[in-house]
Amino acid sequence: MKLLVTGGAGYVGSVCAARLVESGHEVVVLDDLSTGHADAVPDGVRLVEAGIDDAIGEVLAEGFDGVLHFAAKSLVGESMQDPAKYWQGNVVTSLRLLDAMRAHGTPRLVFSSTAATYGEPEQVPIAETAPTRPTNPYGATKLAIDHAITSYAAAHGLAAVSLRYFNVAGAYGRFGERHGVETHLIPIVLQVASGRRERVQVYGDDWPTDDGTCVRDYIHVVDLADAHLRALAHATTGEHRVYNLGNGLGFSVKQVIDACREVTGHPIPADVAPRRAGDPAVLVASSEKARTELGWKPERVDLAGIVRDAWDFTRSQQGA
Ligand code: UDP
Repeated sequence: MKLLVTGGAGYVGSVCAARLVESGHEVVVLDDLSTGHADAVPDGVRLVEAGIDDAIGEVLAEGFDGVLHFAAKSLVGESMQDPAKYWQGNVVTSLRLLDAMRAHGTPRLVFSSTAATYGEPEQVPIAETAPTRPTNPYGATKLAIDHAITSYAAAHGLAAVSLRYFNVAGAYGRFGERHGVETHLIPIVLQVASGRRERVQVYGDDWPTDDGTCVRDYIHVVDLADAHLRALAHATTGEHRVYNLGNGLGFSVKQVIDACREVTGHPIPADVAPRRAGDPAVLVASSEKARTELGWKPERVDLAGIVRDAWDFTRSQQGA
């Protein structure tokens, strides 16, 4: 297929673009490089360096079999301080994309949604039928886009799949996580191991979990990318399907830090700090639906293995 990957110079987008190319698809990346990196675009892939708002009509006019839509603002804290940036940058931009796809007859969409659409869970593991009550504008904007996709699929025959990621981690060779402002646990802990940060703060050790620290579902970015390929193959005209993607195993903040110590051989000093606002104690996905309907199964579930791939990437960046 000929596929457009928006945000293909970012972390998840670049890994997906690389896996799509390896599977024989023709890929074009549309990215304004506001947070992405031109050198993260896989070899042999054309990069259109522009925003969706400016270029989507012209690009889709070439004729595409589908779009994988990753381009988004994705910092929870920033979304609370500057919601307009998220409603404009995520929702308005995605509507532009949907309208351009309709205008140019682009038949398939795979959308990068998030566990943040659910908010504080009543039950774990979280299934797709769980109530969606996002606790921050980031999650609210992704949920709004999901709703828009549902109605476009029904009214205009779009074949759409939304994938709701839990905690994406790991790397794929030279494709990995490089954020200007780092807020995620594993890259922060690895910054300590690589000498770019002194210590790590553990946001609370009095949570109702086995060791008192928060539990999250870390999914390897390559498993995630493979789910996108399957979603593309299973997308059905006029339907909008939603799947949660996690590895089904929860790991605590302490377990993550211990795994990083084991992999890097660095002591990684850690201090207990106050809880972070808006953090639920446990977020773990039920990915049963993706397993049953997409035939997807995460293969890289071992925490030390996930951390090792992220660490190899971190070190390759330092050498770069
Ligand atoms: N966390 C932490 N210290 C940090 C960053 C994160 O203790 O410096 C915790 C955070 O409170 C959460 C978990 O690590 O329980 C994962 O946080 P992250 O921001 O990576 O992902 P989130 O689950 O918030 O999407």
